Amino acid sequence: MLLHIGIEDTDSPRGGCTTYIAALLVERLLELGARFIDYPNLVRLNPNVPWKTRGNGAVCLRIEMDTALEGAVKAAVVDAVERHAEFDCDNTNPGIVFHTGIVTKPLKGFVDRVIQGVVTLGEAEGLIEKHGSTAIGYKNMRGIIGALAAVGERLEGDHTYELLAYRMPESLGTPRRLDVDSIIEMDEATRGETFNNVDCENGRPLIAPHGPDPVLFGVRGESAEAVHRAGMMVEASEPMERWVIFRTNQGTDAHLRRVMKLSDLEPYNPAIAVGEVAARPRTIQGGHVIFPLKDETAQVDCAAYEPTGRFRDVVRRFSEGDTIRVYGGVRASDGDMRRTLNLEKLEVLHLAPDVRLANPLCQQCGSGMESMGRGKGYRCRRCGLRDRNLEKRVIEVERKLSTGLFIPPPSAHRHLTKPRQRYGKENMEGVPNELYEPWHWSRV
Ligand SMILES: [Zn+2]
Repeated sequence: MLLHIGIEDTDSPRGGCTTYIAALLVERLLELGARFIDYPNLVRLNPNVPWKTRGNGAVCLRIEMDTALEGAVKAAVVDAVERHAEFDCDNTNPGIVFHTGIVTKPLKGFVDRVIQGVVTLGEAEGLIEKHGSTAIGYKNMRGIIGALAAVGERLEGDHTYELLAYRMPESLGTPRRLDVDSIIEMDEATRGETFNNVDCENGRPLIAPHGPDPVLFGVRGESAEAVHRAGMMVEASEPMERWVIFRTNQGTDAHLRRVMKLSDLEPYNPAIAVGEVAARPRTIQGGHVIFPLKDETAQVDCAAYEPTGRFRDVVRRFSEGDTIRVYGGVRASDGDMRRTLNLEKLEVLHLAPDVRLANPLCQQCGSGMESMGRGKGYRCRRCGLRDRNLEKRVIEVERKLSTGLFIPPPSAHRHLTKPRQRYGKENMEGVPNELYEPWHWSRV
């Protein structure tokens, strides 16, 4: 029989990691005799939902097994979640979904909305019942939404891979001891095949988190082979407990949905929209840059926050009338109904001419002229020629900006943000026909 096991929301800011529970289960399920039909899936959900825990990731393990194993497998899953989930955190509401047989198409629409918007627990419960799945929810039960979405997301469109390496329990909470030179070498040796290893603005490694969670490092890339090769190049002076390669929607922009007009932007629904810059951007306290964007239906504020670094310099060069495609999360501004879009990336589609009025040039010597007072004409600064009938001339100032795509540095990316180097590399092959043998994608 086929069994899909979805798990979500087991971590908290104080520790834990849903991928770690998945990694432990890979070992346990192989011991029990299960065969994996896909790499473990790591499905990142809408990063803009207000009640998310940390990375808002759900996992799904897809296995084939003798029917006799069903009880033992499900017991192992429940045991792993109950042993390792951070139940004490208010915002942690673990959920498990078991689905037997093939994953049916109607889950697809639900999955898209969990990744791009907001769904209710009731919708998830209705689908679970309709599809004959089983759910186990803890506390407020919301974790079953993501668990069901992970089951339903077969990653048939663009996808990437991540090798996640985990720390020994005794290392948790201490600084991670990774050799920075080995990370930079790895980045150079696998360039084009891996991404977001090192921050391009300051050269700092990005593969290691800083919190108390069990992840030692994660390497992201285009194929299982690439992240395996890259992961093996990273040197650590602390022992590694295990590693697993996940297939994932990270780096694919899966959370961004195109809207046709600005009035369709909704809070908590990340979107792609086109509009015209309505006024020059201004820098506010904290270094954030804000500008209004409009179309015939609405006006919204767009914000490039301080962590987006030099990306803000692009935004500061906008002029009224520029046509921009914006990508990002939407929130309702404090106190009013106006929407604010937090820029994750943008595309300059059309630059309005920067037209200004200037004093005329002298007809005799070509120098600049100065006004002699309102309605009194102009006088040449150099030769003294006077002319009462001259008027200001229209000049076009060269724009210090070009059309094209602009993306903040990787340190400011969401897990789901597609980095520049992935454009044109979208992996549409869907579920791999052939898996690496498990000892090639997971190691204890
Ligand atoms: Zn002159």
